[in-house]
Amino acid sequence: MSAAGRVMVVGAGLAGLVAALRLARAGRRVTVMSRGVGGLPLSSGTVEVLGYAPGRVASPAQALPAFAAASPGHPYGILGPVLAEALGWFSAETPGMGWAGGLERNVLLPTALGVPRPRALVPATMAAGDVAGGGSLLIAGFRAMRDFHPALVAANLERAGIDGLSARPAWVVQTPRPDAADAGATNLARAMDDPAFRRAVAGDLAPHLRPGDRVGMPAIIGMERAGEAHADLEALLGAPVFEIPTVPPSVPGLRLHAALTAAIRGAGGRLVTGPEAVGAEWADGRITGVVVREPGRDRVHPVDACVLATGGFAAGGLELDSHGVVSETVLGLPVHAPPPGEGLSPGYLDPQPLLAAGLRVDARMRPLGADGAPVHVNLHAAGDLVAGALPWREASGEGLSIAGGYAAAGAILEATR
Ligand SMILES: Cc1cc2nc3c(=O)[nH]c(=O)nc-3n(C[C@H](O)[C@H](O)[C@H](O)COP(=O)(O)OP(=O)(O)OC[C@H]3O[C@@H](n4cnc5c(N)ncnc54)[C@H](O)[C@@H]3O)c2cc1C
Repeated sequence: MSAAGRVMVVGAGLAGLVAALRLARAGRRVTVMSRGVGGLPLSSGTVEVLGYAPGRVASPAQALPAFAAASPGHPYGILGPVLAEALGWFSAETPGMGWAGGLERNVLLPTALGVPRPRALVPATMAAGDVAGGGSLLIAGFRAMRDFHPALVAANLERAGIDGLSARPAWVVQTPRPDAADAGATNLARAMDDPAFRRAVAGDLAPHLRPGDRVGMPAIIGMERAGEAHADLEALLGAPVFEIPTVPPSVPGLRLHAALTAAIRGAGGRLVTGPEAVGAEWADGRITGVVVREPGRDRVHPVDACVLATGGFAAGGLELDSHGVVSETVLGLPVHAPPPGEGLSPGYLDPQPLLAAGLRVDARMRPLGADGAPVHVNLHAAGDLVAGALPWREASGEGLSIAGGYAAAGAILEATR
């Protein structure tokens, strides 16, 4: 294959975008074909690598080797060794996020319910929210924003049992939509791009501030100009300010999505949103084309390699039928899943092995057939579609997606040198 190899990445979640960016940077002709925008706009915009194993993890770097050894078939068994390199590359490729943290120590950042949740990387706008060392927090909510309750966040933080941590609530009455009953996260974020609105917000908060406070607020500090808005707000308040991830739509998730898609386009990659991949053509053990359902017809896009990053059940990469059988939806690849009827436990919070269903892959992220050999030598998979992880329970989703997308791209680059 020539260095100008055509690669199709199916799926525009974190795994697909990371794979596409690495391939495009290396000069491959990349098309990202996705039915929808992927999970990033729903995600917190942070990078969770390993948060629970099953107790809260203080250091992913220290916990990962034992975690992978104790979890046969977990993708970190393959991806653990490439994780640090992948995260370093990812941080360098998304400089506007100003990532803080690393694999050595998880940052403990409050959720919108006030639960300190471990995350390996957080954007600069959240860095002052690490509550591990305690401190005095002023948690600000916007009266117009119905999904964020500062009193609840503050009360739960005080109950979290962290030495030296105190928190109290305050309200901001400013709203970008004075004629409407409420304002959403994206309305507020766009308003915070405006210096006048930021001044008004700081004016509401200033009377509540005490010396030594850090100010937490929902993640709405700027859409296009978050860095400037965050620095300005800190200067206006004379205190460190941090964002707390909100329920979707997530402004930091949208920022990360925008950063990655802009980088892919800047590197010459193409993003097509809407059409669905429905099959493939192959010859001699290789995928030669991906069949895409376009308005009025199915069209075959010739490829030299393909990355399948269609996500799990939530995104439609996997499907469960009424008999309890799990299938992979694009190519009908062999799925590793519990036997029908055995994958779900009755309690919501009980272990749910079905959620670890997916494709088994080799060290080059190639899906394996029943015989243990790669199904196609030039087909790779990454992200939630890969079997063996419980991202929501482990808080591992972004780490796996970044490392998986990076490794899948790396395998293609090696094969097409
Ligand atoms: C709502 C939500 C919340 C989550 N919260 C957490 C969390 O708190 N912690 C955690 O660790 N993990 C969490 N996860 C797990 C999360 O899935 C991973 O972190 C990671 O983002 C998955 O990325 P992905 O690229 O594999 O898939 P996704 O982001 O799901 O993207 C899949 C992509 O494939 C596309 N697609 C699917 N089928 C086709 C097709 N046939 N043709 C073309 N395109 C197709 C979709 O449109 C989408 O673009 C959450 C997931 C969701 C959905």
